[in-house]
Amino acid sequence: MNYLNEMWQLQNIEVEMVKLRKEWTEIKEWLNRETGEDLAEIQAGINEAREQWERTKEEYEETTSEIEAIGRKLEQFNSQLYEDGSQSKELVSIQQNIEQLRRRKRTLEDQQLSSIEQLDDLEQKIANETVRFQRLDEQRKSRLTRLTERRDEIRERYKILKDQREDLRSIIPSFMMVIYNDLVAQGKRPMAILQDENCSGCGIAQTVLSVNALKKGGQYTRCSNCGRILIAGDAGEQE
Ligand SMILES: [Zn+2]
Repeated sequence: MNYLNEMWQLQNIEVEMVKLRKEWTEIKEWLNRETGEDLAEIQAGINEAREQWERTKEEYEETTSEIEAIGRKLEQFNSQLYEDGSQSKELVSIQQNIEQLRRRKRTLEDQQLSSIEQLDDLEQKIANETVRFQRLDEQRKSRLTRLTERRDEIRERYKILKDQREDLRSIIPSFMMVIYNDLVAQGKRPMAILQDENCSGCGIAQTVLSVNALKKGGQYTRCSNCGRILIAGDAGEQE
């Protein structure tokens, strides 16, 4: 047995393990970024709008009751106008009061209208922001669920791969593991496929002798250029 298939499997497992570790780190970073700060900000905005609504409502009510009070005073003054026995001096002063009150009333009515407008705007804002909050909150929850689920999947898969790697390492003869590990230490994937006559790692053509040794004899062969351990194309493709 030449253990080429086992080494090929080992390489595939290790490549997958590296990918999983990278994904794991990314997921951890994403989860760290999920502080919910944006949601807290929206919530603060909603609370502020509610407080402002309360204040505006109070102002509106104050204005309304002042308008009512003015209405009552105007009635009084108007009836005084038509009372018998009022002196002309008094009448002038009553008319001045009436004028003043009417002016004040107009100002208050303008204020009342702008309060109503403000209340409408605030209610609209509160409604929109509440909808936005709920939508983002739901999205965030499903994002968190997806990430933690994927994290758990990775953990499981990694455990399986680790066991498989240990099994393979215990099967593969140690002198081959030395070569394998040495190539890993050089930053290379240790195994390459022999495609036609070329090493898939570096692309260099191999000698007929090497090609035949591997393809016909299934012998352990290394690339004459990069030193990778070669595996026949059909064997590699099965994986
Ligand atoms: Zn090569």
